Amino acid sequence: MMLEMLRNIVQEVNSAEGLDEALEIIVERVRNAMDTEVCSVYMRDAGSNRYIFQATRGLNANKIGRVSLAPGEGLVGLVAEREEPVNLESAESHPSFHLLEDIGEEEYHAFLGVPIIHQREVLGVLVVQQAARRRFDESDEAFLVTMSAQLAGVIAHAQVTGTVQVETLEGVAVSAKIKGIPGAPGIAIGTAVVVSPGADLYAVPRRIIKNRRAELRAFKNALAQVRTDVRLVADNLSDQLSPEDHALFDVYLGILDDSTIGAEVASLIKAGHWAQGALSKVMIEHIRHFERMEHSYLRERAVDVKDLGTRVLTYLQSEDRDERVYPAQTILVGEELTATSLGEIPREKLVGIISVKGSGNSHVAILARAMGVPTIMGAVDLPYTMLQDRELIIDGYYGLVELNPPAELKQRYQELLEQDQALSRDLESLRDLPCETLDDYRLPLYVNTGLMADVTRSLEQGAEGVGLFRTEVPFLLRERFPSEEEQRKIYREQLEAFAPRPVTMRTLDIGGDKSLPYFPIEEENPFLGWRGIRVTLDHPEIFLAQIRAMIKANEGLGNLQILLPMISNVAEVDEALELIHRSHRELAQEGFLGALPQIGVMIEVPAAVYQARALARRVDFLSVGSNDLTQYLLAVDRNNTRVADLYHSLHPAVLQALKLVADAARDEGKPVSICGELAGDPLAAVLLVGMGYDALSMNATSLPKVKQAIRKISLYEAVEVLEEVMVMDNAADVHERLEQSLSDHGLEQFIHSPVDA
Ligand code: PEP
Ligand code: MG
Repeated sequence: MMLEMLRNIVQEVNSAEGLDEALEIIVERVRNAMDTEVCSVYMRDAGSNRYIFQATRGLNANKIGRVSLAPGEGLVGLVAEREEPVNLESAESHPSFHLLEDIGEEEYHAFLGVPIIHQREVLGVLVVQQAARRRFDESDEAFLVTMSAQLAGVIAHAQVTGTVQVETLEGVAVSAKIKGIPGAPGIAIGTAVVVSPGADLYAVPRRIIKNRRAELRAFKNALAQVRTDVRLVADNLSDQLSPEDHALFDVYLGILDDSTIGAEVASLIKAGHWAQGALSKVMIEHIRHFERMEHSYLRERAVDVKDLGTRVLTYLQSEDRDERVYPAQTILVGEELTATSLGEIPREKLVGIISVKGSGNSHVAILARAMGVPTIMGAVDLPYTMLQDRELIIDGYYGLVELNPPAELKQRYQELLEQDQALSRDLESLRDLPCETLDDYRLPLYVNTGLMADVTRSLEQGAEGVGLFRTEVPFLLRERFPSEEEQRKIYREQLEAFAPRPVTMRTLDIGGDKSLPYFPIEEENPFLGWRGIRVTLDHPEIFLAQIRAMIKANEGLGNLQILLPMISNVAEVDEALELIHRSHRELAQEGFLGALPQIGVMIEVPAAVYQARALARRVDFLSVGSNDLTQYLLAVDRNNTRVADLYHSLHPAVLQALKLVADAARDEGKPVSICGELAGDPLAAVLLVGMGYDALSMNATSLPKVKQAIRKISLYEAVEVLEEVMVMDNAADVHERLEQSLSDHGLEQFIHSPVDA
């Protein structure tokens, strides 16, 4: 009962369009649910750091937005400062009590206030009051605390949505900063183009248009087309359906013919909304209306309304797609962007990407890094559907999106952008220089690839080979497993492009967050589940086809190396080796020439760190996947925005593990490289050199920076810094020391500090 009530309230608040509407729903519903006389919300204003009386039921609504309290001032301030509930039988006898003039709280004695906290920050205070001198009981307090904890995220989201909303409705530019996860480094300043994932009424971008007549016409056409479709279906099915079933189509046509829906949409279009936006707004309101009905038959009608709205939207979108023009500086924004959506935009116009879902390790992010396009992932609080045509800045170093940045901030970003551009021009001169330390210690730099598109860029940046070819990328772009011959061609192209430089191809690494559309893996804990080598050993037919394709592709070139992902025990290696040897033998019998390629194991699970020697003994080389290794060592899901702050790639535990692996490989006389994102961080380069890593593999964009950093130090110094850092016990100290080392060598430009207004 309680749970149901909580869920309903949260759901309703969730569908609010902005903060004010959200707060109105909260005060109304909480007051009723708790059967109290007063419910109010005080929201913190970031500018003044005061708690503003923002919504109420029971007190004087005329004072909304006009009175406020400082932290520590009054009971509301006390709740905010202490970050815990205050529950009093008689508010006025508490020493902190501070009467707010004219809000009409004199007659209410009992007071219960709870803080609204989101991501450690107090957003506001939720208060209930009643006249009786009677303490709210324990279950009231528990209810309000639960309510507030659940609402905090919703309120944070509504706050940003509201900010943007104000702009849409009133044409006033409001600045806002939204935090996401860094997807690809760099700064971009440009105009948002929102892509919607097929017809989704809830994901229609807001847009204001000038040509209202054309929009009206488009809407009427779409409506007429849907009407024809529905009639056609109804006719086709007429002899197969019972009269009751058939009546459904009459209901459908009734909804379409209903003059209210059509008229509402038309009037919004006349007010300047584009057809899709007007349709979505009206349909969502009607859907909500039906969903709230008590009667289940009527509630079901919500589904019909939604279906019809979606059909009309589909027609509107198909017309719109034909005439899309991209601004010169396009920032692509979408809920879940795909490789295809990137492909639709001319490369020279694409300056940035924002994906509401996903993480720095999602497919789009990997692709974007390879292309050198600054990218933000996991911007969950971004009201992305409202951003069409808005001016945005994205900071791919820190994962920040700035909406309507103030002039000064924009200027700072502009400077940073120019610095970045100048830096990459400077670094171009490094292309043909070797990556070696001042004392001539040579260390090849490789790239991570996944697509053919990466090849040119990689070679331009001076890559000496491929340290990680993520074979799952071409698999992701298809609708079924690629055949052995299709794979052979893909692999051949990579091998040829880089030959005679080495190309390390990793066997299919799916599972975790990488699922193929045609081979879905749904699990409670995908990162601890069926992924990488575990999947392919269970499906030897997939593994063998891949190995055969690789070996065939290598014929006459000989630069192939094979890498095994997600190894957590030696048996997996033994089994995989047996399959590889068998394929090679069989292919030799079929007449293919060429030696057995070098085979390596990825060290990306803590267990593999401790067994690095045993693993190294079985294969030709080791390669550390620091992305997964960090997530497993720190127990931090690499995709989860909530814990992204805890994902420290320079955590002392990670450094100890990296050192253990380097030592183990040396003891076994086997080369060891690193192919996680850490390898592309110029800060970490010093340490990796000092530990004795034989090669670093990274995204093409980072390569020149890392080369520059390594060319400025001596191996001797790298070892010294390493020794200093290895005794530090927290990541922040390590970070600071490494920044020091970069700036000692005049490489301040590689250090990115947050840009604040
Ligand atoms: C890693 O885990 O560090 C790695 C290189 O593999 P991926 O990012 O593809 O999981
Ligand atoms: Mg990995």
